[in-house]
Amino acid sequence: MDDSYITFTIAKQKTIALIAHDGKKKELIEWCEQNQEILRNHFLCGTGTTARLVAEKTGLPVKGYNSGPLGGDQQIGAKIVEGVIDFVVFFSDPLEAQPHDPDVKALLRIAQVYDIPIANNRATADFMIRSPLMNQEYEHQVINFKQSVADRVSEKSRLI
Ligand code: PGA
Repeated sequence: MDDSYITFTIAKQKTIALIAHDGKKKELIEWCEQNQEILRNHFLCGTGTTARLVAEKTGLPVKGYNSGPLGGDQQIGAKIVEGVIDFVVFFSDPLEAQPHDPDVKALLRIAQVYDIPIANNRATADFMIRSPLMNQEYEHQVINFKQSVADRVSEKSRLI
């Protein structure tokens, strides 16, 4: 059996992280308003300002992490690693430099590593939210981090 990967399950009721850069907040709030009947079936969270604005405008409960520039993207990345967050809608602004660009890149990377669906624009978010998989469990293969540590330790200990 190949133990490099393990099967993870994205539950029927997903934990969705919502993030929007300032130039994209209006668009994300509109998107959340349009899709609130679907979003209310899931657990929502987001970076500080985005979470607060979405909660105020839609009335949906949204757990807020720190603001993005103060580490919120990193907190969301850590929750992906822990298996808590399993779906991300991140409207990043391609036309504006961000002081926390390294954190943004780190979040995109970790979502890729853990095979987490992540929408970076409205069209992708529309396709994702209307997918039949939104109402189902979804099994996917994620790198076996325990096995990866064991392999790396035995390889390094040979060199020491
Ligand atoms: P914010 O953070 O929701 O606190 O504005 C978003 C971001 O800029 O990453």
